[in-house]
Amino acid sequence: MIKIEQIYCPNCGSHAEKRYSSKHNTIQVECPACDYFLLSCAKTGNVREAYAPGIAAG
Ligand SMILES: [Zn+2]
Repeated sequence: MIKIEQIYCPNCGSHAEKRYSSKHNTIQVECPACDYFLLSCAKTGNVREAYAPGIAAG
């Protein structure tokens, strides 16, 4: 089961998606605007994979 939540991207502030997978116990954040990506464990909060492209501030 996957639950999708609309959030704001922590990298660029655009609309992004947060997906909870109860099967894998993971939380995945994906931003289509800046390619931000974060995969973390839902149980421990440990980050398994992360990608935050550098963007110009402001
Ligand atoms: Zn973003």
